[in-house]
Amino acid sequence: MVSKRVGQPRIARVSVTLDCPRKCPGCCNTYASIMKQARPVRVEEVAGYDQVIVTGGEPMLRLERTLELVNKFWEQNPGAKIYLYTAGFDPGDWASGYLVQVVDGVQYSIHAGASYHDVAMFARVQDFLRTRTWRAYTHRLFVDKAVARRIPIIPSVWSRIVVGPWMSEQELLAKCPDGAAPGEKLLILGEREGDGTN
Ligand code: SF4
Repeated sequence: MVSKRVGQPRIARVSVTLDCPRKCPGCCNTYASIMKQARPVRVEEVAGYDQVIVTGGEPMLRLERTLELVNKFWEQNPGAKIYLYTAGFDPGDWASGYLVQVVDGVQYSIHAGASYHDVAMFARVQDFLRTRTWRAYTHRLFVDKAVARRIPIIPSVWSRIVVGPWMSEQELLAKCPDGAAPGEKLLILGEREGDGTN
């Protein structure tokens, strides 16, 4: 259980896998100055936070495990908001669709090397999110300004849209000297539930 100072939200940024099918230039997971500050943890240690950010790698790669982890994060962080970071999922897959509806929002990223397939999939994802309104969601979109394709964005789906440059390691380190934004803890889970490290 983490200690908590009054008025300061505690945020866990948890990498649930470092694997990802994409090889984006400048992937944060290749930034040694950032990653050396990540703390390996067991799932039981992700407790007492006000917000849990589930990230990777690509969490959708380990879909059923990610679903189990989200359930544990709920149990261990009562009342916390849980957000999912992803760069792609198939809204036609029942488990993916379920996952994005039970978290409090998705941070969706379109990276520089996005293909036509990626853009077409994004359009499907966005349409899926647009029609799921049974809870109040906070969905956020990041589009790397280096993407050389037209992106069909529906503004009403997103609470925040950022179209901008990807940060270099130096820029990210200047913004996040502890490896994560102020107030956040950068944590890495092992590949199997209960593991301490990869
Ligand atoms: S999608 Fe994200 S995790 Fe995957 S390679 Fe790109 S930046 Fe890294």
